[in-house]
Amino acid sequence: MSVLIYAENAEGKFKKSILEAVSYAKAIADQNNTNLVALSIGDVAADELAALGKYGAEKVLNVGNDKLKNFVNQAYASVIAEAAKAQGADIVVLSNSFSGRGLAPRIGVKLEAGVADGAVALPEQNGGKFTVKKTAFSGKAFAVVELTSANKVIALTPNSYKVVETGGTAQVEDFSVETKESDFKQMLKDIVRSTDKVSLPDAEIVVSGGRGLKGPENWGMIEELAGLLGAATACSKPVSDADWRPHSEHVGQTGIAVSPNLYVAIGISGAIQHLAGVSSSKVIVVINKDAEAPFFKVADYGIVGDAFEVVPKLIAAVKDY
Ligand code: FAD
Repeated sequence: MSVLIYAENAEGKFKKSILEAVSYAKAIADQNNTNLVALSIGDVAADELAALGKYGAEKVLNVGNDKLKNFVNQAYASVIAEAAKAQGADIVVLSNSFSGRGLAPRIGVKLEAGVADGAVALPEQNGGKFTVKKTAFSGKAFAVVELTSANKVIALTPNSYKVVETGGTAQVEDFSVETKESDFKQMLKDIVRSTDKVSLPDAEIVVSGGRGLKGPENWGMIEELAGLLGAATACSKPVSDADWRPHSEHVGQTGIAVSPNLYVAIGISGAIQHLAGVSSSKVIVVINKDAEAPFFKVADYGIVGDAFEVVPKLIAAVKDY
């Protein structure tokens, strides 16, 4: 038995959310007194691969197949499942990223494994039971699921487990798998980057604006506050529907789900569909001029006040800090 972590790369680098998943997988391997093997697909430099050893991977399997340079859901799922079989891994861990959410059920089918996507804590293994706490109902609730199958797939929610350096360098090995034509029916042809700013799903701090900001011309202060805090910017659905902000910033039930350490909501009412995508944030700060706004019910800190007065003061305070 071993644990396999699929280490997804973004343009040849492993993001913090992946290092969290590697650390999480290492902790599962330790729970089971076994070793951790990482799998990387695509173009990643040898030293970047070996550095996964710092987070607990003993070995890194590197798949350098040209056909797999760009993400192909079905083909990647086949490679990950084949690697798990080759390593005798009965637990596969991946990040619950955009691609991870698509891969987890496909790997589950190929390995006849129970799947816990959106995991937020280490599995509990008591009396032969293997349970995982995960988000449910678009982040509105948590569920504890029991995985009764021999093989298991767990997709970890970003920002829900810390990066732990255990030291060491991993041994890197080439791994090749025969790919099937049927795995390439849908291919990713191009990725158009919409922004060079902090990526929203991975951000530790998110500054988000709603319709209370009145119009796109008032987003300067949101951008400035986000810039000072090293945060990503986000918005409510009506804001992106009105083209005040790009759709890539829309968070909530029908947008991106985020779970940063700090979510600052400015001029957002806190409708249930918005909360669905943000309520697993560690600390929520709400700025709203209406003391009855529903967002205050889930806030850790709230400021009842006009955003146009409060946010400039907040910016000045952060600059003075
Ligand atoms: P509003 O509801 O108009 O609230 C604006 C807030 O700003 C108010 O609370 C007001 O008091 C405050 N405000 C006004 N002026 C100021 C000021 N000067 N200073 C401070 N505060 C001020 N919404 C999402 O966000 N994400 C989703 O994914 C999503 N999915 C949906 C899916 C479905 C099927 C449906 C039906 C709806 C969905 N919605 C979603 C829409 C959701 O129901 C709300 O309509 C939306 O979240 C409201 O956005 P808002 O809070 O920006 O605007």
